[in-house]
Amino acid sequence: MSDSPVSALTIAGSDSGGGAGIQADLKAFAAHGVHGLSAIAALTAQHTRGVTAVHVPPVDFLRAQIDACFEDFHVGAVKLGMLATAEVIRAVADALDAYGPVPLVVDPVMVATSGARLLAEDALEALRTRLLPKATVLTPNIPEAELLSGLRIASPADAEQALARLLATGSKAVLLKGAHLDEGALVVDRYREATGTGTTTFTHPRLPIEGHGTGCTLASAIAANLCLGLTPAQATAAAVDYVGRALRQGYRPGRGEVRVLDHI
Ligand code: PLP
Repeated sequence: MSDSPVSALTIAGSDSGGGAGIQADLKAFAAHGVHGLSAIAALTAQHTRGVTAVHVPPVDFLRAQIDACFEDFHVGAVKLGMLATAEVIRAVADALDAYGPVPLVVDPVMVATSGARLLAEDALEALRTRLLPKATVLTPNIPEAELLSGLRIASPADAEQALARLLATGSKAVLLKGAHLDEGALVVDRYREATGTGTTTFTHPRLPIEGHGTGCTLASAIAANLCLGLTPAQATAAAVDYVGRALRQGYRPGRGEVRVLDHI
């Protein structure tokens, strides 16, 4: 790494189990050769069987972390993950407004695979109005896309409609992760840009693996690739490929069934 390399900043939740959140984000940044910065928006006490407690630090302290990063580093991209509350979302949006446009990957984290709620129900509107319009790439899974678009997504046609609805929020591109949609033995992720003409699909076999932290890793890999100068479309394609490889090499560090990704 050269002196003063471009850095990627994650503003997200911490996972004490090291599989998701900030911990996954920093591993993904490092694996891409990008210096990683972090502002911790929420802390989870968590292991491979679930989330046992959540703590949200005062937003002033979150802002202090974000300020420290922007005041000293060349931030090439920001990745947003678990933001927990509407107040946190507003604080993050205010900070991003203060520092000007920066390539932004928004992972609209709402509920963990284990079922734990990671975003307050009343925070949806703040997410939609304050952060989605700033997104270079928005990366919802199907349940998140349903809540953000107000559409039920049960078919590929529904997915297309949801992409259009989400792009209308102001996000420049949307990657709709398809794992929750039943398309037989395949998982189809769909990517579309607001200025583009069509949808790019990434199709992969459904792996018989319960993965943890895949969404965080994917969004961070996109952010790292944006830092490295890739276009949003190139950054997303490379990140989808990266997550597939990391998941296939995943391992089970705890007593639960879930695997965490191997970031190499
Ligand atoms: N914990 C934190 C802090 C997260 O940010 C996330 C996901 O975004 C999760 C847990 C959930 O990860 P998963 O749904 O992959 O298990």
